[in-house]
Amino acid sequence: MDLIRVKNVEKKYKNGVTAIYDLNLAIEKGSFVFIIGGSGSGKSTLIKMLYREEKPTKGQIIVGGRDVAKLRDRKVYLIRRKMGIVFQDYRLLPKLTVYENVAFALECIGEKKDEVRRKVLKALEDVGLKNKIHNYPDQLSGGEQQRVAIARAIVNDPKLLLCDEPTGNLDPKMSMEIMKVLDDINKQRGTTIIMATHDEKIVNKMKKQVIALKDGHLVNFKQKGTYNNEAI
Ligand code: ADP
Repeated sequence: MDLIRVKNVEKKYKNGVTAIYDLNLAIEKGSFVFIIGGSGSGKSTLIKMLYREEKPTKGQIIVGGRDVAKLRDRKVYLIRRKMGIVFQDYRLLPKLTVYENVAFALECIGEKKDEVRRKVLKALEDVGLKNKIHNYPDQLSGGEQQRVAIARAIVNDPKLLLCDEPTGNLDPKMSMEIMKVLDDINKQRGTTIIMATHDEKIVNKMKKQVIALKDGHLVNFKQKGTYNNEAI
């Protein structure tokens, strides 16, 4: 079953730049998909449209049966609750501990204390950071901070995890650790993962589905893709 369908989508920014042209895609539930392409090819724009940070100027973006392009602004929280988002720069709250960072969103939606604890510890265990729950972000390596950000994104067991260049600030060793964490989440929780990256080594090693963009156009969609072989 498709979790996501992108139909005839165009995104033209107010300054006149067209970031995405007539894009059509379907992404199956449970898949792990890379979005690849050079800088400015439209990767972030596509990810942002999936979580309704940006709206397409044409077309439909169906996520879990709902056209997120048509959603009213005040209803956006309904889809955000079902997805986790991970950014290149972690975006942790510096004055909160690891535990508090991961617990924060659950507390905001009024989850019971026991449930918060159970979910937070499970998420931190899944990313291999259960031993650092009382540390603050600045006491962690970049790779560890990104693992906290991933724990925060999966703590409510979303169906979809969107990652925009999650390894962009990390060295190759830490990047591979992050990829192992994401791969395990995909396999064990069945979470659909969409990850934008321009890291060839990662894409070639993981052998996942690949959506290749060039100047806003879809140039390739492969089941087991590599970076080098794509026409980008
Ligand atoms: P990528 O993530 O592949 O680097 P982006 O989606 O960030 O690509 O950008 C695609 C194109 O859209 C680029 O030409 C970029 O300059 C332009 N763009 C991105 N965001 C905006 C914005 N908020 N306003 C205007 N143009 C933008």
